[in-house]
Amino acid sequence: MKKEILSKDRKFLWHPFTQFKNSSPPIVVKSARNEKIIDIDGNEYVDLISSWWVNTHGHCRNEIINEIASQAKIIEQVLFAGFTHQPAVDLAERLVNLLPSNLNKVFYSDNGSTSVEIAMKVAIQYWYNKGIKKSKFLAFKGGYHGDTFGAMSVGLTSGFYEPFKEIVNDSYFFDFPDDWFGNNQIDVLERKSIHQAEKIINDNKNEIAAVIIEPLIQGAGGMKMCRPNYLDKIVKFFKKSGIIVIFDEVMTGFGRTGKMFALDYLSEAPDILCLAKSLTAGYIPLAATVFSENIFNEFVCSDFKKTFLHGHTFTANPIACSAAIASLKLFSQDRTLKKINRIETLHKKWLNALSNTTKISKIRTLGSIAAFDINNNDLEYGSEKVENLKKRFLEKGLLLRPIGKTVYLMPPYCIDEDLLEDCYKKIEEVLE
Ligand code: PMP
Repeated sequence: MKKEILSKDRKFLWHPFTQFKNSSPPIVVKSARNEKIIDIDGNEYVDLISSWWVNTHGHCRNEIINEIASQAKIIEQVLFAGFTHQPAVDLAERLVNLLPSNLNKVFYSDNGSTSVEIAMKVAIQYWYNKGIKKSKFLAFKGGYHGDTFGAMSVGLTSGFYEPFKEIVNDSYFFDFPDDWFGNNQIDVLERKSIHQAEKIINDNKNEIAAVIIEPLIQGAGGMKMCRPNYLDKIVKFFKKSGIIVIFDEVMTGFGRTGKMFALDYLSEAPDILCLAKSLTAGYIPLAATVFSENIFNEFVCSDFKKTFLHGHTFTANPIACSAAIASLKLFSQDRTLKKINRIETLHKKWLNALSNTTKISKIRTLGSIAAFDINNNDLEYGSEKVENLKKRFLEKGLLLRPIGKTVYLMPPYCIDEDLLEDCYKKIEEVLE
């Protein structure tokens, strides 16, 4: 059975972020339950990265599966132009109630990249509808916003898009002042970053439509974290300068940072918010881009040319919306944010311990996310050394995918605390 799956996989499939020349065969997954993934040979792996940062309450939770099953029997899919339905409306209401009061119009799509494309297109068309041509974006160096063309243009410095460099739009980039425990240069880095952003805005205000920000944590860029006060300051400056502010909370949304959204750490709210990944607890693809009334109103008029002519076939899929509603209910039922606080306490305790016994640095944590760098410059992104490290973790039953020399943990919130401690012991063994 396993042999057959692997041989057909090799014959028919092309996996993402995978170099086939030297990659090991994929693990054949049989099932998953709570924080664990089980392969066809019965080996168990603790899903320490929440299956690419989507899973929140654990795999195969009955509360979510049951909602999905009942919704599928009522209406599984319907077009969303000229039609609406209960799950779409209920989810939008729940989301809006969780967000700052200015964010109150929800546009659904299917994944993080589309939620970002929609944000960027709306930002450009907002100015167009006002009769102003502004089509450039400002973004952090090292940021990542997805793999579609618009998203690539604001993630160019992430290093993932070399072949497309010449054909994506030019954007402006400024430093992300990343912080870690004991970083004594952080004030200088923050001042430099603010200064860069001010200069770019002052010189190019007339062409910059919006700034896009992964608030507090750059995910794929290496789990780099910045301080809330710095972010508040810079967002305030952008808003004062009349720049639309887009927060990409595709990764940070739904509890990852210890609050429901990273924006809950700030006093300044964005004009546009991108959500995906954990929106449905990781069960079904769904994304939402949420807009301020002010932006939405610029599209409401009798001139058809000012309509936002954009839509995806599976927009507001009822089954996906019902999964998202079930997930939001679980947040209060399970007292999920409290669980995340306990995970953060464990992260801190263990990273502290690891820093005494192994060669690691730049320790950082926020909510359910913990990261550190291994002091070894040979661990380059995509290198055989990093592949070997991944294998060593897997052999110990840990699903971890270091980003170069950065090891990070982002477990589902249901993770058993003793099990998490056990995982740290195994990480320590591998690092030693
Ligand atoms: N934005 C951020 C911050 C992300 O982390 C990601 C995915 N890692 C995306 C956008 C793109 O999401 P997707 O892979 O669902 O297209």
